[in-house]
Amino acid sequence: MDLWFYEKHTKHVKFAIEIEEHLYHEVSEFQQIDIFDSFEFGRFLTLDGCMMLTEKDEFIYHEMIVHVPMCAKLDAKKVLVIGGGDGGTARELLRYKTIERIDLVEIDEKVVESCKKFIPQTAGCLDDPRVQIFYEDGLKFVRHKVDEYDLIIVDSTDPFGPGEGLFTKEFYGNCFNALHADGVMVNQHENPFYPADAVAMQRAHARIVASFPIAKVYQAQIPTYPSGYWLFGFASKSIHPIRDVNFDSWLQLGIETKYYNPNLHRGSFALPNYVEKILRKVE
Ligand code: SAM
Repeated sequence: MDLWFYEKHTKHVKFAIEIEEHLYHEVSEFQQIDIFDSFEFGRFLTLDGCMMLTEKDEFIYHEMIVHVPMCAKLDAKKVLVIGGGDGGTARELLRYKTIERIDLVEIDEKVVESCKKFIPQTAGCLDDPRVQIFYEDGLKFVRHKVDEYDLIIVDSTDPFGPGEGLFTKEFYGNCFNALHADGVMVNQHENPFYPADAVAMQRAHARIVASFPIAKVYQAQIPTYPSGYWLFGFASKSIHPIRDVNFDSWLQLGIETKYYNPNLHRGSFALPNYVEKILRKVE
């Protein structure tokens, strides 16, 4: 019997992956969690039926959400990750010996538990002593933090359900306060291709622009995300993501990556005209 996972990307578009085995199913206090094994993409995690990561292409998302800001902020010592319970973002951060502490704020303990059991490729790092996990709502966690972090990575779900608060003006303003004077915030910024997603992306950008003096957007190609095309936001108080970056220092660290490199870093900020147009409208 053929078993297929389907995700509705729009009212008229579905994305499908043939499943080898349904490994895990749970309805937690916050969301429905499923982990599948597949022939083409290996194991993959979905929350409320939306693709979060697959073993085959997670390196693109996690390298881009971590190495772009880290290359711009090589002296980062204390990092806050909001969401990211699958561990992929923490894994990439831990490759920097200079990072002393990673506070990971994940609302749903069941995501961490299930990923540790079934997706060690990403979650295997979560017992590292430099990672402190807080099972809390990220929106509340940052509310009273002032001048504490060098880097904040918002590795959240989409702007509905538990992730909704992580796309608000209040949240971005609190992240600004939680960062040091040369701090950087990076967020997963949705896709600009399908109109409903583009509206959410534009709204998030408008709020980040209102909260940070520097707010740029960069891109990556991620096969299993809606439209296969994804954006990330780079916001900071003072650092420009290209002009203020010392790419040679990053190369000297000798971090072996599968997707990220300095040329790609520079190029990822060059966006197609239709995306520029959406962003310019709110800048
Ligand atoms: N790479 C992913 C993507 O964009 O598809 C994100 C993956 S990660 C699994 C997202 C995590 O954010 C989930 O585990 C979810 O439980 C967590 N999350 C959602 N809302 C949150 C909130 N308000 N505070 C903290 N974590 C939250």
